Amino acid sequence: TACPTGAITVKDNRDQFWEAVQNKDKRVVAQIAPAVRVALGERFGLPPGEVTIGKIVSALKMVGVDEVYDTAFAADMTVVEESNEFVERLSNGENLPLFTSCCPGWVKFAENKYPQLMENISSCKSPQQMFGAVVKEYYKEEDNKNNTETIMVSVMPCTAKKAEAAREEFEVNGIRDVDIVITTQELARIIKEAGIVFEELEDESFDMPFGMASGSGVIFGATGGVSEAVVTRLLREKPNHTTKDVIFKSVRGMEDVKEAIFNLDDREVKVAIVHGLKDADELVKKVLSGEKSYDFVEVMACKGGCVAGGGQPAPININMRKERAKGLYKIDRTSFIKSSENNPLVNQIFDELLKDKKELIHVHKKNLQKVES
Ligand code: SF4
Repeated sequence: TACPTGAITVKDNRDQFWEAVQNKDKRVVAQIAPAVRVALGERFGLPPGEVTIGKIVSALKMVGVDEVYDTAFAADMTVVEESNEFVERLSNGENLPLFTSCCPGWVKFAENKYPQLMENISSCKSPQQMFGAVVKEYYKEEDNKNNTETIMVSVMPCTAKKAEAAREEFEVNGIRDVDIVITTQELARIIKEAGIVFEELEDESFDMPFGMASGSGVIFGATGGVSEAVVTRLLREKPNHTTKDVIFKSVRGMEDVKEAIFNLDDREVKVAIVHGLKDADELVKKVLSGEKSYDFVEVMACKGGCVAGGGQPAPININMRKERAKGLYKIDRTSFIKSSENNPLVNQIFDELLKDKKELIHVHKKNLQKVES
């Protein structure tokens, strides 16, 4: 697969995956990113945008994964944490604009080309890494007691997520947040290797406690989704925000650069959304020269966002990007939890597991290193 983000050599991790699920002494836990569910079906003759999450959970269980969770759960955590960080920066005026940190293709690009922006990039780990950190912490005691090990597998639309998971700062006391990353394409091959007839699988639901996500967490997979989720969270309980619909219209869609402006406690907040590194580069130049001024900038390295990531079934045309994004918005429309902070399980994790341990879901930019490749 060609990676549009510059992760030049793409490693196939199917062997590692098979080894893990065949080792009965290990608990294999999988997380599935939002964009995977609207594209994997294409490898089995289904149309782009068709949501196959129930079949993906079934297939992973059949090949030996012990627990299957939703990365959108961690996206909800990211929304809550990144919104808090944003509000704090707005109030003290420091390190604005806040750039999003969930796309490793963008983070690596910024590290190499614009190291002066490191403090502007959110300190929140990406949903993939947050999820791994939380799951490892959740099972830590039990694993120590029983002398077992939890292996975190993530199923991602993205080849750059492999490089992200391997970064040095995502290992704490010898424990990695994420152990194995497989792409949507690799999962399709795994399913075929196992002889599973994917189209005929019965749907299964995610496991608990990390299987419940809001619509906001799911739309992370499309360009504009992170901004929409953060705006939804910031404007919650604020009266007179019939403007929300107008904002959503401006953050959705495939235009190269989108802008949204809204008022938050009498302050005008300016958001920009850019996808594709060429457009991101131009936007950053304008921000640095002072030609443009924003408070929040969402950057996704792939055109269209993760729905069109380098690990997705290819080739991808504009229509497929739109159909896959539509599939995510459809999930959002029908989900019974609309906004991230209303996800009761996310709140429970913040109140209990992460109480006094917030550092588990943050990464400090001083630790980031220039990546040569
Ligand atoms: Fe990966 Fe998504 Fe970034 Fe593309 S936009 S590099 S798929 S995280």
